[in-house]
Amino acid sequence: MLLTCDRIHKPLIWGNTLPSLDLLIVGQGLIGSLLAHAAADAGLEFTVIDDGHEDAASLAAAGLMTPFTGRRFSAPQNLETLLDIARRRYATLSERLNAPLYRPQPMIRVFTLDEEHRRHARQRQTAAGARLLGPIQPAGHGPAGMPDPMGSCRIEGGGQVDVATLLQQTRAWLMASGRLQQARLQPAELTLLAEGCQWQEHSARLCVLCTGHQARHWDAFRGLPWRLSRGQALILRRETTMPLEVVHAGRTLAPLDEGRAWFGATYEHDLDKRGPDPGARETLLDDYQRLFPEAPAPEVLDQIGGIRAGSRHGPPFAGLTSNDPALGLLDGFGSRGTLLGPWHVDRFVERFTNNTLATLKP
Ligand SMILES: Cc1cc2nc3c(=O)[nH]c(=O)nc-3n(C[C@H](O)[C@H](O)[C@H](O)COP(=O)(O)OP(=O)(O)OC[C@H]3O[C@@H](n4cnc5c(N)ncnc54)[C@H](O)[C@@H]3O)c2cc1C
Repeated sequence: MLLTCDRIHKPLIWGNTLPSLDLLIVGQGLIGSLLAHAAADAGLEFTVIDDGHEDAASLAAAGLMTPFTGRRFSAPQNLETLLDIARRRYATLSERLNAPLYRPQPMIRVFTLDEEHRRHARQRQTAAGARLLGPIQPAGHGPAGMPDPMGSCRIEGGGQVDVATLLQQTRAWLMASGRLQQARLQPAELTLLAEGCQWQEHSARLCVLCTGHQARHWDAFRGLPWRLSRGQALILRRETTMPLEVVHAGRTLAPLDEGRAWFGATYEHDLDKRGPDPGARETLLDDYQRLFPEAPAPEVLDQIGGIRAGSRHGPPFAGLTSNDPALGLLDGFGSRGTLLGPWHVDRFVERFTNNTLATLKP
């Protein structure tokens, strides 16, 4: 049976022969980039289609790979494996792309609620927590210039990925080998058959969307349990008085380079707004002043934002649609793309190669 996303039947150009590519990867944010590298390592033939990062959440991210996050100090189950695979992947990519893409970076967590003390104590009883979560330091031992009446702790094992450089260098790498198409793929332009897909002159065994929140607009993925939020952050001029470490106390301040620091982020549920919002800027600047009451008002160099696409069930979406076996999704990484991405991308490629990709469940 011949299928297309909008059910318009079009003839396939490959006729009785097999599709010429293994994968058509749609989206070159962090996940599409990681997938392209893993596919190349596995010897797969692929093309990446991206619209020029028109709507990339990856470009708003601080790139932090944080083992324990949120009030609950939550961590994914196989944390140490995820950290190990991610660190190795970013080291390999730094060599391939000839750019330092990752630096280990401890985080100082300043406590703001009693509940965090309890959660911290509970996580320290786990194997990963005992290794990576430092003890509570009493008030006055936290980052310079930051009041810490409830104390603070150090979180080891994480780091910071230079996501913008990773995307830029991967784009150049893809272009050099003729594997990048700059275009916005519309669902109606994609033809799907049981044995493959076709878009313009490209035919592949599988079309996989790595389009971040945009995938929720596709009929095939609309019914998935998305968890979506808009996040905005400020790029500040980095002052010598700012802490050297990544610090978190409800909001995060992370050094980016000699001259810039990232401060954020908001969690908003109005997904229709576009562009920098003055209200978010004001909220973030008020919070900065609350965190660093003695510091002068920071100079804002830029305001950035994007939509985080996560899954309400927790793990990302990685699999095939039930109706169209030539259409897949690798998405829904929420706020943890840097940590979860490398492991899930490797599993996706392995399962694609072994023909064991599972069907996505709503
Ligand atoms: C403010 C903020 C801060 C964050 N901080 C962190 C952090 O510190 N650490 C962390 O791990 N995560 C963080 N995240 C989450 C992180 O951004 C995601 O986990 C990850 O980057 C998502 O990558 P992605 O490739 O799935 O999606 P995206 O980065 O959104 O990439 C999708 C790409 O597909 C393109 N595209 C979409 N539709 C089409 C189409 N039809 N045709 C062609 N191209 C298309 C888009 O333009 C884009 O280039 C943050 C997110 C936000 C918003």
